[in-house]
Amino acid sequence: MSVHFRRGSAFSEEALRQSYESLTTGTILEGAPVEIDTVNLDFECRCGHKQVITSDDLIGHMFVCPRCGATKEIDEAHDLELVELVAEGADWMGFETTNRRECMQRSIATTKATMKNRE
Ligand SMILES: [Zn+2]
Repeated sequence: MSVHFRRGSAFSEEALRQSYESLTTGTILEGAPVEIDTVNLDFECRCGHKQVITSDDLIGHMFVCPRCGATKEIDEAHDLELVELVAEGADWMGFETTNRRECMQRSIATTKATMKNRE
């Protein structure tokens, strides 16, 4: 069994892993390998400064340009998507594929809510 996520670069990978671990503790997903792809979130400021935004660059949802000090709200700060959930064997005990997906989407929603509450 493995789980595959795609995250925006502004979504903290560490926070994702931690939330995921705490959410799956005691479930059959506990200890399942997690694969995380990163999609770079490019930023181009009106002053010409360009960079990829990571979670370390954000204050809440805000990004501050290191060159001119302009602030920008980053709506994609919580971009996270479940790409693939591979489950094999009888562990899922008759769960239909859609139910698995639903279960994981709920976990993701909880993860996002958890992360929002941290800010
Ligand atoms: Zn700037």
